[in-house]
Amino acid sequence: MSVDAFTYDGGRVESGETQRIRYTVSETYLGDPIRIPVTVVNGDDPGPTVFLSAAAHGDELNGIAVVREVAREWDHGDVRGTLVCLPVLNVQGFLTQQRYLPVYDRDLNRSFPGNRRGTSARRVAAAIFENFVRPCDLGLDFHTSTRGRTNMLHVRADMDDDPTARLAQAFGASVVVAGAGEPGMLRREATERGVPTVTVELGEAHRFERALIDRALDGVRSVFAEYGVFPQETVRWPGWRTVIRSADEKTWLRADVGGIAEMQCERGDLVYEGDAVCAITNPFRDDVATVTAPFTGLLVGSLENPVVYPGNPLCHLVELDDRTRRVIESRRGRSPPEEDSIS
Ligand SMILES: [Zn+2]
Repeated sequence: MSVDAFTYDGGRVESGETQRIRYTVSETYLGDPIRIPVTVVNGDDPGPTVFLSAAAHGDELNGIAVVREVAREWDHGDVRGTLVCLPVLNVQGFLTQQRYLPVYDRDLNRSFPGNRRGTSARRVAAAIFENFVRPCDLGLDFHTSTRGRTNMLHVRADMDDDPTARLAQAFGASVVVAGAGEPGMLRREATERGVPTVTVELGEAHRFERALIDRALDGVRSVFAEYGVFPQETVRWPGWRTVIRSADEKTWLRADVGGIAEMQCERGDLVYEGDAVCAITNPFRDDVATVTAPFTGLLVGSLENPVVYPGNPLCHLVELDDRTRRVIESRRGRSPPEEDSIS
């Protein structure tokens, strides 16, 4: 049984073939091409076409390691279907190590599906979307927290869309933040066009965090098992799962005073109502304010850069139902917090 070639504007990848492509999405002031790296792995046997993308925000590096390893290190002999690996979407942001496209600070991840005759950001987005996202059956888009903060590994997905909920569950993360996302986001625009896509958040910008990268790779294997890309693999159950409706339960605790924040809890910690989460101090190291948890929950995201203005976010605390809390408590007795989200 043969599979179709993967085609994009300017080329095709036959079944059984792997191609490394540098695909032009824009041009510099010098008129030189700006090219994104793409690896297309087209398997011998039929199966879904899956895209994996990273660094839509140019300084978010963990996902680059994930996508590169799938493209390069994994054995592709048994791949059923086609993998479209896009380790660096925002090349200009990557080169300058910043989140946004440097031209007018445009957010590439608000520019999809793009427009070939639009602004430069929308043209870049269109080149990516039309060639490497539209032809796919599903996708994983890897991100990290914004600079100066960190996230525990979690998935963001439109859980009201059944195919997307299936993908989110297949990834095997304990925490899923539900919501369609904002207009122009890759995952939202792809999902609306019939390519179920979820965002995977892991860690902080400007870093390779090996433990989180390994857990994300486990999630990719689990997705590949669910959709038959790697039929010999098994779908993972993370041990516990909580789905947070982003509109209500997701809560960023904020500083009410300016100063230097000293976090008392870490990413992934279970925090009890009334616990001190953060002390805000001044340059004389007086305690100016103590921030306590307003409810019992899980610390999904946290500050890394400790300086805050009034109103700055300190941490992202999400409420848990009692059953989930008890499961976490029983598991925490025997494994460190960061290790038990996928196991
Ligand atoms: Zn991002």
